[in-house]
Amino acid sequence: MEKRELLYEGKAKKVYATDDPEVLLVDYKDDATAFNGLKKGTIAGKGAINNRVTNYMMRILEKEGVPTHYVEEISPCETLVKKVSIVPLEVIIRNISAGSFAKRFGVSEGIVFEEPTIEFSYKNDELGDPLMNAYHAFALGLATKKEIETIKEMAFKINAVMKDFFRKLKVDLVDFKLEFGRLSDGTIVLADEISPDTCRFWDSETHEKLDKDRFRRDLGNVEDAYKEMMKRILGE
Ligand code: ADP
Ligand code: UDP
Repeated sequence: MEKRELLYEGKAKKVYATDDPEVLLVDYKDDATAFNGLKKGTIAGKGAINNRVTNYMMRILEKEGVPTHYVEEISPCETLVKKVSIVPLEVIIRNISAGSFAKRFGVSEGIVFEEPTIEFSYKNDELGDPLMNAYHAFALGLATKKEIETIKEMAFKINAVMKDFFRKLKVDLVDFKLEFGRLSDGTIVLADEISPDTCRFWDSETHEKLDKDRFRRDLGNVEDAYKEMMKRILGE
């Protein structure tokens, strides 16, 4: 597969065309941003870790029957994926209170929910990714009712698989963000990434944060946290 023109440069990844119109090449960067781009920095080694962690998770999910955009990892920071039209929703699943949930509802972090929650935000940087419900998404024509149902079912299934996987690594899966897209035939698949950038991971015993909150909140040892997650997930 040949790498062609740069189609898009985002905050964490670059997306290139390839000689196959149905396939894109994603290149993971070490750049880190938080608070809608207000805080900027780099995390050495993050690109390779997020690439490898994402692909590992995508392969597990595929095995469990979740369709994903994953095609092939071709270098430490580069992966081929099926081109999708992204549904402009950030789908957030939470098992434990943290972050914007704790802030919005005035509760402490660390409340373990009896059932996972789901929420959507409109993927729109200019508007600051506002929270929206399924009716809003449908009213704005972002997705059909059937697509929203499919996305919800897939997101809870992904949570069940991931919770179980991380429990065995002595990691609590606190919350995470997913993105979904449509293949050219309309099939909804999991897209984008699953990494310490997009998930909150807490060590089950020490409750130490092993994710991007170390960068967001200036907690130090950011690189070590990413490395530790890669070590637990990939065993190296
Ligand atoms: P952002 O756009 O939020 O800065 P990134 O730096 O991660 O994010 O850029 C990657 C972009 O590629 C995102 O906009 C994401 O929605 C999009 N994307 C992820 N997977 C695919 C895919 N399979 N096909 C097309 N676009 C994708
Ligand atoms: N998240 C993300 N991208 C975003 C917003 C959130 O990957 O643009 C992830 C975040 O890492 C966390 C979960 O989604 O694992 C929930 O984030 P929250 O709503 O608490 O927002 P934050 O605290 O990041 O502002």
